[in-house]
Amino acid sequence: MNSTSTTPAPVAASPAPTLRSKLPEVGTTIFSIMSALAVEKNAVNLGQGFPDFACDPALKEAVSAAMAADQNQYPPMPGVPVLRENIAAKIAAIYGYRYDAATEITVTAGATQGIMTILLACVHAGDEVIVIEPVYDSYVPSIRLAGGIPVFVSMELDQHGYSIPWGKVAAAITGKTRLIMLNSPHNPTGFVLSAADVQALADIVRNTGVLIASDEVYEHMVYDGQRHESLSRHPELAQRSFIISSFGKTYHVTGWKVGYVAAPAALMAEFRKVHQFNVFTVNTPMQYGLAHYLANPAPYLDLPAFYQRKRDLFRDGLKNSRFRLLPAGGTYFQCVDYTAISDLPELEFAQWLTAEVGVAAIPVSAFYNQPKESGIVRFCFAKQDATLQKAIARLQQI
Ligand code: PMP
Repeated sequence: MNSTSTTPAPVAASPAPTLRSKLPEVGTTIFSIMSALAVEKNAVNLGQGFPDFACDPALKEAVSAAMAADQNQYPPMPGVPVLRENIAAKIAAIYGYRYDAATEITVTAGATQGIMTILLACVHAGDEVIVIEPVYDSYVPSIRLAGGIPVFVSMELDQHGYSIPWGKVAAAITGKTRLIMLNSPHNPTGFVLSAADVQALADIVRNTGVLIASDEVYEHMVYDGQRHESLSRHPELAQRSFIISSFGKTYHVTGWKVGYVAAPAALMAEFRKVHQFNVFTVNTPMQYGLAHYLANPAPYLDLPAFYQRKRDLFRDGLKNSRFRLLPAGGTYFQCVDYTAISDLPELEFAQWLTAEVGVAAIPVSAFYNQPKESGIVRFCFAKQDATLQKAIARLQQI
């Protein structure tokens, strides 16, 4: 051993590398902020959208059985065949459009990854993507990461609730428009596309090269006898659409992060080129468990009645309060106008409500590119009845 070692010469200090942010405008999401405040203030959390009740034990058993049967290695890149077959069969049974399970359906790590992958696959630098505000928070950062330019069209609000101004959507289409992003049933407003809306959309995009990403994660939460106008019901639109759904919403398992995307084969081929390199595939036992459970239509067919009862319980509880209830035709969200109670901006009102009244809500202004104050906050009613009752008792006091 060489014993003549000397102290190494000090290395000249080099400046730490700096990173130019790809998403400079992105901070902590409003959902994390309000959930943290709800915990700190011991408030009832009707902010973030997730159920506070368990999923069906049969679903847990199906996943556990798959794991116990050693279905634990890489599945095929687009998802296990039986799950894709069952998804295709479900879509055909309820919406009447038959996707080919081999080439037109891909299982994703939740809807979020499906949306990101659609954008990465379709959008080239400088392409424009039309989004309808208020807009779910992952869309715009995903568009920007893909190099696209978001173009905003605001929903309109009157005494009948929110609506999409199709004339403004048509006017927003330029030679650079690559994609329109839609979400129905809509988070946060509860708006549900009607057949007339779908027809208006078809008229606008006909003879253009514009694609559509249709976020239908709340497809089984449509109330009052309305039907969900999946774009897959509309053969002309289905030809240019990616349809996105999420088992997290439908089966009360938001933490599992398993969803799927359906699209015509040519679009799906491009989607899969990106998918295979950003996740490759989604965990195996969940896929087998979901495939088994999906074969029984009862759980998703029963979902509208299940959530409509909760919506009505919540609405009845607030009907004599000073909140004005907006229409809530779909999703598990109820928006309320609080302008009879306070003239605070929405974020401050939501913080006050959490801290002083003990019920967390989400300001709808957080869903706008340029925060827009309408005096409206969003409550999530995917909660046990006891949780809703507790929140109602507090909200009635103000
Ligand atoms: N789209 C919308 C409109 C949502 O509300 C959500 C969940 N909050 C998602 C997508 C994401 O779904 P997932 O958890 O399956 O990624």
